Amino acid sequence: MSSLPVVETFHSLQGEGLHAGRSAFFIRLGGCTVGCSWCDTKHSWPQTAHPALETQALAAEAAAAQQQGAAFVVITGGEPLHHNLDGFCQTLTEMAPTLPRHLETSGVDPFSGSFSWITLSPKAHKPPTQELLARCNELKAVVHGPEDLAFAEAMAAQAPQAQWLLQPGWDSPQGQQLAVEFVRNHPLWRLSLQSHKWLGVR
Ligand code: SF4
Repeated sequence: MSSLPVVETFHSLQGEGLHAGRSAFFIRLGGCTVGCSWCDTKHSWPQTAHPALETQALAAEAAAAQQQGAAFVVITGGEPLHHNLDGFCQTLTEMAPTLPRHLETSGVDPFSGSFSWITLSPKAHKPPTQELLARCNELKAVVHGPEDLAFAEAMAAQAPQAQWLLQPGWDSPQGQQLAVEFVRNHPLWRLSLQSHKWLGVR
């Protein structure tokens, strides 16, 4: 029986990215060594601080959420690809065969699992692998300062197949201003807002 460290599971709306506003079941896995200073889930970093749950039970939760309206399941973290997700995705396929699987990753690890939607949120201090840049469906770059725009463009050049999104850092007025102005001047980019935070929901 395989298991994964789980910080939390919850059924809400996807707050960010191209699928924002849609009903989603979230599985937040524990463990992250990427170390972003602005991280809003630092409690997820220590892998051993979170209970190891059996993947069959997790997949059953996802299947139940689909019955209650979830349009897809989001595997997030932490950094979910610190774990090999092949077995879990297989279990999800067996127990919730019509539930699309989405992944949110920084892309620093080798890819595993199978997903219909991959959100890559690259970090300048630990850049993603070429494999994830080539596989991602959306590239979501967080903006705090001007250097983040240059990094976002460099990443986008390596992910021409993806949708390109700029997301202002939460509580970053400069990031908001820069992202809005950049998107206004660059028609291939769009703005991503953390709408769940604005709304005060999970
Ligand atoms: Fe936090 Fe994600 Fe950065 Fe990990 S990769 S430190 S979870 S923002």
